[in-house]
Order: sequence, then C-alpha cells, then structure tokens
Amino acid sequence: MTDKLITMPNRLEIRELTLYEYQQYEAIFQNYTQLVDLNIQEMKETRDCSLYSPLLKPPSFSDRFMNEHWIECDKEKKKELEDISDSECFICFIEMNSDEKTLKCDHCKKTTHQKCASNWLQIHQSCPHCRREQLDPEELPALS
Ligand SMILES: [Zn+2]
Ligand SMILES: [Zn+2]
Repeated sequence: MTDKLITMPNRLEIRELTLYEYQQYEAIFQNYTQLVDLNIQEMKETRDCSLYSPLLKPPSFSDRFMNEHWIECDKEKKKELEDISDSECFICFIEMNSDEKTLKCDHCKKTTHQKCASNWLQIHQSCPHCRREQLDPEELPALS
C-alpha cells in the first residue's frame, strides 16, 4: 500500500507524506513490539499479569494519510469503471466483442459498433458523443 503511493510520480507532497508516515509507523511499530516482548518476558518471570505496563496504542497511519490513501483507491476504482464502460458501445450500450467491427472517434476516442455508428452518421455526420464532425468510413472512398 505504501509502495503504490510512493511510486506516484505526480504528487511529490504525498510521496513525502508517505515516506514520513512509513518511517513513523515503523518506529512506533518497533516500540510497540518491544513493549509487548518486554511485557511477555515480565509475565513469564513474575507470573503476574497485573504488573504489566499498559500497552501503547497499536501503530496506525494518520488520518490525513488514510484519507489520501482512500482518495487514491477511489480514483483507481473510477478508472476501472471507465475502462469497463469503454468496452461498451456508446450508442447501444452492448459490450463490443473484439471480432466486431468498431469505429473510434478521432476527437473524443469514444468507440461504438461500426453498424451503430453507421446508422447515426447517415443522419448526423457527427460523433454521437462529442458531436464533432465524423463521417462513416464505409461511405468514403478509400484514400489510396
Ligand atoms: Zn452498438
Ligand atoms: Zn467524439
């Protein structure tokens, strides 16, 4: 989880925060395990559980760090959703199979079934998504 945040190239501040948090976490974790070990040792020696020192709070990341972490997770989830919807035809919303003919808009990169786009383009001559000029390649003579 920290690796992912550290390797984000575009957010230097988060990178520093992550490194800082990680160091803090490691330090607290070390203290914590040392104290637990110490307690266990004491209990073994004295056979008295009532003597042990109260435990520190278990190590955890700060709220700010966790917020950033969840924000990044959300972004990734959204990206995944976008990827999924990109495999659907923008016109009929049915998933496009790789063996089907598709047409991609030069401007917005939305992809549709060739046959869905053809029906639309015969009437509108524009992309059904961004409405910029687009022609049915089937209707155009080959360029070469
Ligand atoms: Zn379609
Ligand atoms: Zn478009």
